[in-house]
Amino acid sequence: MSRQKIAVKSPLVELDGDEMTRVIWALIKEKLILPYLDVTLEYYDLGIRNRDATGDRVTSDSAAAILKHGVGVKCATITPNADRVKEYDLAKEWPSPNATIRGILDGTVFRKPILVKSIPPMVHGWKKPIVIARHAYGDIYKNAEFAPWGAGDAELVFKGANGLEERIPVAKLKGPGVLQAIHNTDASIRSFAQACIAYALSEKIDIWFGAKDTISKIYHARFRAIFAEEVDAKKKDLEAAGVTYSYGLIDDIVARVMRSEGGMLWACMNYDGDVMSDMLAAGFGSLGLMTSVLVSPSGAFEFEAAHGTVQRHYYRHLKGEPTSTNSVASIFAWAGALSKRGELDGTPEVIEFSRNLEEATVDCIDRGIMTKDLVSLSDLGVSEPATTQSFIDAVAARLSEIRG
Ligand code: NAP
Ligand code: MG
Repeated sequence: MSRQKIAVKSPLVELDGDEMTRVIWALIKEKLILPYLDVTLEYYDLGIRNRDATGDRVTSDSAAAILKHGVGVKCATITPNADRVKEYDLAKEWPSPNATIRGILDGTVFRKPILVKSIPPMVHGWKKPIVIARHAYGDIYKNAEFAPWGAGDAELVFKGANGLEERIPVAKLKGPGVLQAIHNTDASIRSFAQACIAYALSEKIDIWFGAKDTISKIYHARFRAIFAEEVDAKKKDLEAAGVTYSYGLIDDIVARVMRSEGGMLWACMNYDGDVMSDMLAAGFGSLGLMTSVLVSPSGAFEFEAAHGTVQRHYYRHLKGEPTSTNSVASIFAWAGALSKRGELDGTPEVIEFSRNLEEATVDCIDRGIMTKDLVSLSDLGVSEPATTQSFIDAVAARLSEIRG
């Protein structure tokens, strides 16, 4: 390395994880990060064994550290189920670390695809990433459901803490059927809107939000109204950044997204986000090319790959067999976190390094060096996929060329 290491001013919170992504994580740090940066990594081991050993304390500690320092980067982690409890002899089925951290940050998850020239999106018009934000509280995911056995009157009843009661007729059923009650809260919708605005300002991209307020004149209309209030409160910042906000009916927004060239933040209600994020992931190619950022309304950021720990590859790795696991989303998580760190610290050389890291990664793919999952999506006709290790080595070599 001919150049001096770049100093990263403030600590970066590092959350280690599990299985194949933990293997990749160590390689990225060793070959792509530490040779170039003089950085204080505030390390939290969220590997399943350490979560178990600490009674999951390490997860909430890591979230507190992200709130304190403003930026974290996270490796994929196991969310334990009954099989994992047996496999790792766990004290219990610890909750999803992502859910715990999201709860503490009161955060919203933004998913952003990585665009590579040699891997064209399924939708030919898409030229720029479409970032999707899913409101992850309430609606049908916290519903109350009931299947009435026969004819009867259904009502919605609200008992106010002040003693007042409201009853709304739902339906007069003539026979068996189904009923569902859903809810949301102004506070959660407002946090969501604030996180969307914080992200859009940070990335300088327009915000599109769709709901169905022509049909749902109270529930969906409340989402629309709160978004409008929050946009209004940040009007000056949005104007200064050249970021626009547009509201549309959800069906119209879907059609406009398909016809667009991308490049916007698409804010979605919970169910829309669940469905549309999978549509976009498939449309842009591979899970291995999808990154994810958790943003708190206060403006703390946690970067990660959208995929999981790639368990099947890990078992092959443990048997000593070669693997071809895509590390691109994990590399971009590091690049995103460093770029944000540099932005908050006012250190352009750190931002430049993160651009170089992204460029080196994309260059390798465009030169036909890619893991197995990308080979069939690419139009380069690659015959020999890279191994997990050889891909990261190739990125390291390209990065060293770029850095000179
Ligand atoms: P996964 O790890 O995303 O993998 C599912 C399949 O997708 C893999 O078997 C592999 O297919 C393919 N794939 C995903 N990422 C890839 C990559 N980087 N390179 C190449 N192929 C990739 O999901 P999972 O198997 O359902 O979950 C495994 C564990 O991850 C679970 O314990 C789950 O709790 C956890 N998880 C964590 C997070 C997170 O921390 N953010 C998110 C999701 C899941 P092939 O095997 O066909 O090659
Ligand atoms: Mg889904």
